[in-house]
Amino acid sequence: MTHPTDGSCIFCKIVAGQIPCFKLLEDETTIAFMDINPVNPGHALSVAKGHWPTVDVIPPDVLAAVAKTAQRVAKAVVSELKPVGVNLLQANGAGAGQSVPHLHIHIMPRRPNDGATLNWDYKPGDKAEIEAVYKRLKAAL
Ligand code: 5GP
Ligand code: ZN
Repeated sequence: MTHPTDGSCIFCKIVAGQIPCFKLLEDETTIAFMDINPVNPGHALSVAKGHWPTVDVIPPDVLAAVAKTAQRVAKAVVSELKPVGVNLLQANGAGAGQSVPHLHIHIMPRRPNDGATLNWDYKPGDKAEIEAVYKRLKAAL
């Protein structure tokens, strides 16, 4: 099966076997491997084999396959490493903290007080503002 690729993309090079990785699993559409800068031990990535940068451009069936692979890895992380929790995280765009523009889901096991800055405190929103944005989004769907 052929996938779109980008010759300058680090994950495309991993998919092509040009750069090594600790490969956890692979199927026709996805690959999962260990992150080389783990937030905690067991931090892994579920990656589309094809080069699509972000959630708004990837075909939905490929996104579903990446999610399915992330679930398989998360199950192994939970049963084997027994973390206090696991975050699945997927960043889109530099402003969201995406550093590799090739769609992937992080499987991030959590440890108590690990300092990972993914979580935030609840702060009640303004109802009118929520509703105004809701109306715009609903119309865009
Ligand atoms: P992002 O910041 O785009 O959400 O996540 C990219 C992730 O890819 C980072 O957590 C980073 O550590 C990881 N990463 C970057 N380059 C490589 C690499 O060459 N090999 C592996 N295994 N992970 C990488
Ligand atoms: Zn790529």
